[in-house]
Amino acid sequence: MRPLLLHVKPVNVEEWLVHRLSESLSEVFSLKVVVSRDLSLSRVLEFYDEEREQVRADLLLDALSSRAPPLCLVLIDADAYVAGLNFVFGVARAGWGGLVFLTRLRQEFYGLPPNEEILAARVVKEAIHELGHALGLGHCRTPRCVMRFSNSILDVDSKTPYFCPRCRRELELLHPGLLKF
Ligand SMILES: [Zn+2]
Ligand SMILES: [Zn+2]
Repeated sequence: MRPLLLHVKPVNVEEWLVHRLSESLSEVFSLKVVVSRDLSLSRVLEFYDEEREQVRADLLLDALSSRAPPLCLVLIDADAYVAGLNFVFGVARAGWGGLVFLTRLRQEFYGLPPNEEILAARVVKEAIHELGHALGLGHCRTPRCVMRFSNSILDVDSKTPYFCPRCRRELELLHPGLLKF
């Protein structure tokens, strides 16, 4: 079987972080991870709300998912929101991919010193979460499951990067062989 491609598209993101994430994703999924730098900051800024200093994530997702082929994971060093919410860590579209926003995953946002390990762990969890949606999963109530909804950074930190047994079974039914372990 031809391996499914996952296009990781970083916008303004540190090289080491893109590399770490790509490695982690290849450990979880039987996907060929390809980093493509074809998404420009100016494209993202078309969806920037000057007053809120946030990207309008749902509109950006609409625009990107109508152009780029699946499976995509867009990593953006910005803060974002969708209509009705103060902020989002990420958004996704089933069958296409997802967007992950880094600002609120950084310790600095909470007035703490930068920490690469903490940042990488959070980015990996949120990326796997959005890819879970992209692959057809909904939210999960299992506390440690990566598919649990995160309302705050404490929620992100308290879950694991792993799918619970129920989510694993569902993914295995939807995409046999996609999960590596
Ligand atoms: Zn979610
Ligand atoms: Zn679950």
